Order: sequence, then C-alpha cells, then structure tokens
Amino acid sequence: MIHIILFGPPGCGKGTQARIIANKFGFIHLSTGMIFRNHIKNETSLGMLAKHYINQGILVPDKITTSMLNIEMKKYIQAKGIIYDGYPRTKNQIFSLEKILNRFSFGRINVIFSFHIKNNLLINRLIKRGKISKRNDDINMKTVQKRIEEYDRKTAFIWNDYKWKKNIIKLNASSSKEKISFFIEKKIMNFYER
Ligand code: ADP
Repeated sequence: MIHIILFGPPGCGKGTQARIIANKFGFIHLSTGMIFRNHIKNETSLGMLAKHYINQGILVPDKITTSMLNIEMKKYIQAKGIIYDGYPRTKNQIFSLEKILNRFSFGRINVIFSFHIKNNLLINRLIKRGKISKRNDDINMKTVQKRIEEYDRKTAFIWNDYKWKKNIIKLNASSSKEKISFFIEKKIMNFYER
C-alpha cells in the first residue's frame, strides 16, 4: 500500500489535489478535516469533542485526532494507496501514523509533497472558499488567521527531522491546479516504475 502525504498550510490546495490524484490512481482520500466535519454533522461524540477546537481555528488535540484516525484506517485494509490531506499536523501525529501503519502491516510513509505559497494568497483563497462552502472556519477572518498561525507555530516544521529528507518533494502551490497535479502524477508514476 502506498502512502502519500500532502503537506502545507490551510488553503494551499491540498484538498483539490488529493481529490484529483485519488481519482486518477484509485487511492483513498483521507481528509481529517472532512472526517471531523462529518462527525460534527452527525453529532457523534467525537464530533462534539472536536467542534469546539475547529470553530476556533485551533488544532484538535492529538489524542482525539489519533483515535479518529485509528477508526478510519481499519476500513482501508484493501486499499491500493492512501492520500493524507491534513494529517499529520504535529510530530506526535507522525509517530501515531507510523505506529498504525506498523500495527496493520500497511507499509510506510512513501512520500511527502510539501506545498509552498505566500500567506496573503492563502487568506484570499480561504475567504473566497468560505463564501461558496459556507464553512464556518473559512468565513470568519479571525479564524482563518488563527489557522495560519497554528500552522506556522505547530505544523510547519514537523518534517524537519533528517530521517524524512529523502521523502520530501517541494512544490510551488501558486502555480495552476493542472500543473501541480501533473507534477504530482509524474512523481507517483516513478514509484511504480522503480
Ligand atoms: P484547512 O487545512 O483548510 O484548515 P481542514 O479541513 O484540513 O482545513 O481542517 C479544518 C480543521 O480541522 C482544522 O483547523 C483543525 O481544527 C481540524 N483538524 C484537521 N486535521 C487535523 C489534525 N490532523 N490535527 C488536529 N486538528 C485537525
């Protein structure tokens, strides 16, 4: 099973690319934000726990996020590959993912695509997205800023460990949707040719 991580700040286009690539290769698209929003909509206990953090634009605590991931991953025993969109967001979450992959003998993290983009572009994109999606955490400017702050403070450097150096592929997230997906597709094909 191949494990592809899309990494970058809120609004950088991870979700869009995850959808395109998952469709193209028949992989699972695992978006922790989407899973949380579903839990909230269905008023599950997990949703109740997560709601308060999400509406404030802060990270849901690792314990809650990881127990959610545990539940999700069990469904994917047959998957060819998984694209992670919004996970991991802390070093702790990297360890948890590695632990889960080990426990289920799912393989290992193969590649991390790191999306780079300027902050002012992000804010514009998120506000625009909020108008269409009506996502609470995108409509409110304060929440948007908080999420970017959280990213810079808690997430941006989690892959800095030397161990991951050879797995990281940087990309320019301000280029077009098509260019980015073409770039990612080409890199994934390399994996299958090796
Ligand atoms: P975005 O990346 O655009 O902010 P997401 O849908 O990925 O949107 O995430 C929305 C919110 O869900 C985050 O602000 C955070 O509160 C919560 N969340 C999502 N993934 C995680 C995670 N891995 N760890 C903690 N909180 C998370």
